[in-house]
Amino acid sequence: MEEHDVIVAGAGMAGSLAATAAAQKGAKVLLLDRNDYSQAGKKTNWGWVCGDAVAKSHIDFIEKELNIKLSSPVLDLKVDGVQVLSPDMQNKFPFEGEGYSLDRPKAAKYFADMAKKAGAEYRTHYEVEGPIIEENKVAGIFGRNEKGEQVRIKAKLVIDALGVASTLRRKLPQNGYIENTVSTDDIESTGRYIMKFEHNGGDINYYDPKNALIHLNQVLAPGGYGWVFPKTGDRINIGVGVEKKSLEVRNERLGKKDTLHSLIDEYVKWNPEIKSYELDPTDSNGKGYWSVTVKRQFDSLVFPGYMGAGDSMAMPNPISAGGIGPAMVAGVLAGEVAGDAVAAKDTGMEKIWEYNVRYNNMYGNKTAALEAFRIYLQSLNNDLINYGMSHFLTKKEAEDISYGRIPKLTIAATFNKVLSGIGNINAFRNLLFTVQKMKRMNELYSKYPGINEFQEWKKTINGEMQEVKEKFKPNPV
Ligand SMILES: Cc1cc2nc3c(=O)[nH]c(=O)nc-3n(C[C@H](O)[C@H](O)[C@H](O)COP(=O)(O)OP(=O)(O)OC[C@H]3O[C@@H](n4cnc5c(N)ncnc54)[C@H](O)[C@@H]3O)c2cc1C
Repeated sequence: MEEHDVIVAGAGMAGSLAATAAAQKGAKVLLLDRNDYSQAGKKTNWGWVCGDAVAKSHIDFIEKELNIKLSSPVLDLKVDGVQVLSPDMQNKFPFEGEGYSLDRPKAAKYFADMAKKAGAEYRTHYEVEGPIIEENKVAGIFGRNEKGEQVRIKAKLVIDALGVASTLRRKLPQNGYIENTVSTDDIESTGRYIMKFEHNGGDINYYDPKNALIHLNQVLAPGGYGWVFPKTGDRINIGVGVEKKSLEVRNERLGKKDTLHSLIDEYVKWNPEIKSYELDPTDSNGKGYWSVTVKRQFDSLVFPGYMGAGDSMAMPNPISAGGIGPAMVAGVLAGEVAGDAVAAKDTGMEKIWEYNVRYNNMYGNKTAALEAFRIYLQSLNNDLINYGMSHFLTKKEAEDISYGRIPKLTIAATFNKVLSGIGNINAFRNLLFTVQKMKRMNELYSKYPGINEFQEWKKTINGEMQEVKEKFKPNPV
């Protein structure tokens, strides 16, 4: 049977970078994807469905780590940052720093080429169906080639970069490290259009050529948000993400029957800056729908013989749903750790655990706190979000939250303001509760465990998060 050091399944943002990093370390790497090269990284039949926005800090990281320099057309447009607007449009909070809009189809081809240049074998038209399991360890994969024939391939390590619907993760034996599925409460249904549009050019709260805009609005986008991200050439990436239960509650209370599809069309109509538009036909990527998880990444990213990176491990940021950056960072780290393990002739669990530790230090240690904040946010209606954004948090404190830092909440000062709006005191108390939980999560993650302490640690995290979930239920309108 065919055998490699490392199989990387999925040539998207995480996979091609994992293959590059492992091959740079000298491992014999096979990078597999179901798509043709012309469609590298295409997530579904709908296209490269994404908002395309990524923070500069993530681009800087991969450039440094892989010794590359990215530029146009992979990086389509540079922006100053992301601005989050309250439902009444009266408050605007900065979120993350400078960033780029990617050209996703071009970025994916560029990354796949990079993997090939580093020495990885890149095989297209291979549909991954599941892991080969031997003695409770992943020993390779099985799937079908372009002729529809079953092909089994073995490897010392398999890196799962198949995205949110991963056929590898779902078919792992039940185990205490990685769950097979994600609860629907932790998933956003999302969709977006890439459009060329004619705009009035007046109101930067609706279209800002220098900033990515996020509109919080529980009526327009229950349990999620709407976004308008600028691209070059009078184009925008505009979309909506919703949470299933929030949408159901909102529809029932408002007597409506909206779906994700109808909400995107409504959101486009709602935006006064869009005078007329046409979908961008390039790469048939103008319109698409797909899912994003908004929880912390799986508590462990490794299982014997197996490592996961990107959406397969639920890595998108729980409040922004930004998953490109984490996928790229994780891809590089997983590839590096796998390459080192192969070189050291030790691909055992103790050795690859280092990936868990490095990913947590680099990015993962803040996401449990952000998950708690996301659950709180989904329990607020528009009035409370408006009130909270003008009274509870300063811009600095909101920015702190977006980076996973615990806001100081100048409680005395804030409390005085709250007293003037006594009706909202519960929401304020709930914010205090959430901030305490965020602190607790960060403490737990600052002591990310070794293998032997992992199960106990995981139980504690799950218990803490369960309390947050029980306290806050979706309450959009
Ligand atoms: C509407 C929407 C908007 C988003 N907006 C943003 C944003 O603005 N910024 C941001 O940072 N993130 C955003 N995200 C999230 C981001 O797109 C993902 O986090 C990112 O694509 C994850 O990369 P990945 O490599 O893990 O997976 P993917 O990009 O999904 O790549 C997976 C690859 O695996 C291949 N594959 C899958 N299954 C198989 C199989 N069985 N056999 C063979 N090949 C297979 C696919 O063809 C694909 O090439 C958004 C997501 C959505 C849906």
